[in-house]
Amino acid sequence: MSSSQRSLCPLTLLVVLALSACTAAPGTPAAQPAGTRLQVVATTTFIGDMVRNVAGDRAEVTVLLPVGADPHQFEPRPSDAAAIAKAQVLFMNGAGLEAFLEPLLKSVGGQRIVVECAQGLPLRTVKEDGRMVADPHLWYDVRNAIHYVENIRAGLIQADPAGRAVYTANADRYMAQLRDLDGWIVEQVKQIPPEQRKLVTSHDTFGYFARRYGFEVIGAIFPAGGVEAQPSAQDIAALISAIKATGVKAIFTESTVDPKFAEQIARDAGVKVVTKLYTDSLGGPGSGAETYIDLMRFDVQAIVEALK
Ligand SMILES: [Zn+2]
Repeated sequence: MSSSQRSLCPLTLLVVLALSACTAAPGTPAAQPAGTRLQVVATTTFIGDMVRNVAGDRAEVTVLLPVGADPHQFEPRPSDAAAIAKAQVLFMNGAGLEAFLEPLLKSVGGQRIVVECAQGLPLRTVKEDGRMVADPHLWYDVRNAIHYVENIRAGLIQADPAGRAVYTANADRYMAQLRDLDGWIVEQVKQIPPEQRKLVTSHDTFGYFARRYGFEVIGAIFPAGGVEAQPSAQDIAALISAIKATGVKAIFTESTVDPKFAEQIARDAGVKVVTKLYTDSLGGPGSGAETYIDLMRFDVQAIVEALK
């Protein structure tokens, strides 16, 4: 990954948040003209789904990334700048996921509240090219997703105080569903013998998931910071050795990542490929992963089926 991508880690996010703090003073949200809905932008599909669950009918939510787009590599279009320009609130994952966002916000200018959903959560750090960087994939621990919803609720109330009761009730209902989801995952994982709870994925997405639900991440073809160049021959050889040494049963591909390396590595290591998990993007209509909750259920079912 490039140094410019890597730079969008906590320091840069603070700059983004500071910008938002000075352009939208707390307690003085933009007035909401009668009959118009709060204009909201979300960066990724799963953030958009969470925001819609909390906002209900009070907001018009525009999602920047199309289904299947890789947020690590996303290149904004003119329509994205236009959506941000008219937004009163923008919700992002943060923790370095949306490298495209900082220059885009700068070029758009204007005033809006920017909410980093991951703000306040402890970050897992991973070594990439000899330096430690944040792993942005916090939403794979459902307890973290509940924290996202708390930040989303706070951002919506700041922008639209008159909607406080609606946002609070919607968030309460949604967080109850998320607590159920978390418990369901814990139960599902019990079907996998503990020694087989080992993951190899297209990119290093499952660190938070593994820590919460009792898996070991044996390796990934690409790092947590995203998919860029071809993996080196040494990296591929090391991953194949690790797969053979640990008895991993499958490699999981992801909808946002080209599966060709996973297929090659699986052939060389003599394990199966499971296509495809939904990780950095929701699935399209008919995928079974059209919402964050369905995405988690889909992935957990695929993982349990492959490893049990
Ligand atoms: Zn990712």
